[in-house]
Amino acid sequence: MSENNAKGTILVIEDDKVIQNLIGTTLEIFNYNYQIASNATQGILKATSYNPDVIILDLGLPDMDGIEVIKKIRSFSLIPIIIVSARIENEDKILALDEGADDYLTKPFNTEELLARIRVTMRHTNISKNVHEENNSIFVNGDLKIDYVKGCTYIKEEEIHLTAIEYKLLCLFAKNVGKVLTHNYIKKEIWLDDNGSDSQLSLRVFVTNLRKKLKNTDYIKTHIGIGYRMLQI
Ligand code: CA
Repeated sequence: MSENNAKGTILVIEDDKVIQNLIGTTLEIFNYNYQIASNATQGILKATSYNPDVIILDLGLPDMDGIEVIKKIRSFSLIPIIIVSARIENEDKILALDEGADDYLTKPFNTEELLARIRVTMRHTNISKNVHEENNSIFVNGDLKIDYVKGCTYIKEEEIHLTAIEYKLLCLFAKNVGKVLTHNYIKKEIWLDDNGSDSQLSLRVFVTNLRKKLKNTDYIKTHIGIGYRMLQI
């Protein structure tokens, strides 16, 4: 396999040999370059030396808490991180996403899920790169267009009217397209004061209204108990 044909380079930080093999074999078959680190220390070192496109990080590592690993990597790099968590509970995923992880997989996962998450994450990085490189005053996703300068939103070139909060919410999703945003993160970005369960409910109402106005429910995906994500259509 030539390096030039590879779809990207992935760093896998995982101590479980079975999962290492599963991920490694999948990446090889689907033509990604990859390296494996069996503990956090090795993983952080490789994140700097190998400079991967995506990091897959197990939260349960022998030498360091996965959340600490995210903090350390985020102190020097914005490389997308997909966390792998064995626990069904959402707390650790929420914590990891709030510390800067981009996406998550829950064990046991299948290879299709893994590949889909990698594709989405890499597409998100490419979109962000393009936004920085080009004129970033207009956002386009399928039929949706946001003109940040005018503060206008269009569906199929027809303007739709959003409330101030709906517009703020839409811009937040658009700027993080492909990334899971937690309820807490969204509330912090959109509202100055947090009224506990009340704001959780109103966030759901705002998202519902926004979906209706976008005339397509596929743009904003719900992650039950965690948050929302805008999909690239
Ligand atoms: Ca583990």
